[in-house]
Amino acid sequence: MAEVYDSNNIFARILRGEIPCKKVLETKHSLAFHDINPLAPVHVLVIPKGAYLNMDAFSAKATAEEQADFIQAIGETARLMKAEENGYRIIANNGANAHQDVPHLHIHVLGGRPLGRMLKPAGE
Ligand code: 5GP
Repeated sequence: MAEVYDSNNIFARILRGEIPCKKVLETKHSLAFHDINPLAPVHVLVIPKGAYLNMDAFSAKATAEEQADFIQAIGETARLMKAEENGYRIIANNGANAHQDVPHLHIHVLGGRPLGRMLKPAGE
């Protein structure tokens, strides 16, 4: 995983309108859209509009306004998807150990079915 932000990553291209997405919510600093390969009935990605590689960069460099907007966008996305009634999970994969594939910070909002335990116990 490169430590430098790559402005040609797929989510940067979605933000520039070069690639379509199924939009759920757009705010001043954030965008939420359906994952192209959903793993649950609700699988929406929430991304900041700024060029942040991961949570480390976002938490260190984003303005307070951007950070507040992002948190609010995640909660509002879950409400719009009616995911809060039976529960939902938010996941941010950061870096190699977490298997981050797209090098632009994104939060997965997953719901619509029982999701099982958070992680398999080590060794399974
Ligand atoms: P990661 O493994 O980085 O946490 O998750 C990346 C997610 O982005 C995956 O769930 C994958 O399906 C999704 N994804 C990759 N390319 C695209 C795309 O072009 N459009 C959308 N909507 N989702 C994508």
